Amino acid sequence: MKVENILQKETVQEFENLLNNARNIVIVSHVNPDGDAVGSILALQNIFQNKGLNSICILPNIFPHYLNFLKNSENIIIAEKNQLQAQQTIDNADVLILCDASSFKRTGEILEPLCKSSKAKKILIDHHINPATEEFDLAFATPYVSSTSELSFLLFEKIWGNILDKAIAECIYTGICTDTGSFSYSSNFENTYIIVSKLLKAGVDTEQLHYEIYNTYSERRVRLLGFSLCNRMVVNQKYGYAYIYLSKEDLQQFDYQEGDTEGIVNYTLSMTGINVGALLTEREGKIRMSLRSQTNFDVNRFASTYFSGGGHIKASGATSYDSMENTIKKMEKSLQKEICS
Ligand code: 5GP
Ligand code: MN
Repeated sequence: MKVENILQKETVQEFENLLNNARNIVIVSHVNPDGDAVGSILALQNIFQNKGLNSICILPNIFPHYLNFLKNSENIIIAEKNQLQAQQTIDNADVLILCDASSFKRTGEILEPLCKSSKAKKILIDHHINPATEEFDLAFATPYVSSTSELSFLLFEKIWGNILDKAIAECIYTGICTDTGSFSYSSNFENTYIIVSKLLKAGVDTEQLHYEIYNTYSERRVRLLGFSLCNRMVVNQKYGYAYIYLSKEDLQQFDYQEGDTEGIVNYTLSMTGINVGALLTEREGKIRMSLRSQTNFDVNRFASTYFSGGGHIKASGATSYDSMENTIKKMEKSLQKEICS
């Protein structure tokens, strides 16, 4: 649905009433949180704080350290580390907001059952396709924005007018910037730039934020990137795809920290003639898959058809419970089939 249609007066009013009457608002997002997940939930918490509303953010597992500069990031509850606190906080919630994920399924093993069984009013704010609206009392979901952070800005501007201060603007900018790869994909929406100009007016220093986001890597991380490109990238010129695979041992060798592989997959698309790319990383008993496309090849459909995953048309993810070798075999076979047809 178009943005105008999801921000209907009555629905927005209903949401405002819920918020104004809420004693405890809880905001959650997806596993392996990225810049848009953390940016959007903290934007909400900082907006609520300015309005005198009580809220707290919970994430399933830790987020990349470069996001520590965002206001209130130190107060995020990490469910994997503090399961009891996460449970008690959700038990006490009267409004529960899910950001940047199309379903509670994406909040992982610990949070999903807590969220689903919660008696709180459930709200969705998201930009993925096919949102599970039946799980929510109210859903604000459209793929016609760059990011959930952008959509959050539009929603709360509609509710309360000018909601920006520098800290909130930084959260929103971080979400937009990271979900568009610094304005290189999902960034053909005119409105995104109108919003960015408002963020600049509110005090965002884009050079400073680009430094925080892209130039605070550890030496290990940069060397892991080099290793991935040199030793672990397979390129299939005939079908126009490339992928990088990293085993548990590879990650250990570079002392892997959460977020270290973010962005690596994009390099697979930087070669002429390569339009579909993947990154496969081995985690405890499973393979995480990141899929990217830069043509009309629909990686959301590919991920959901073959690996029960999903996301967006040009950026999707999935988990495989098979070995790396078998996952690669299945992925290549399916890619070749789909690219031919
Ligand atoms: P990434 O490759 O950056 O992890 O994810 C790309 C996009 O796909 C993100 O928008 C993310 O939310 C979505 N995504 C990643 N993994 C999964 C998954 O296992 N299931 C679904 N439905 N979406 C996913
Ligand atoms: Mn997002």
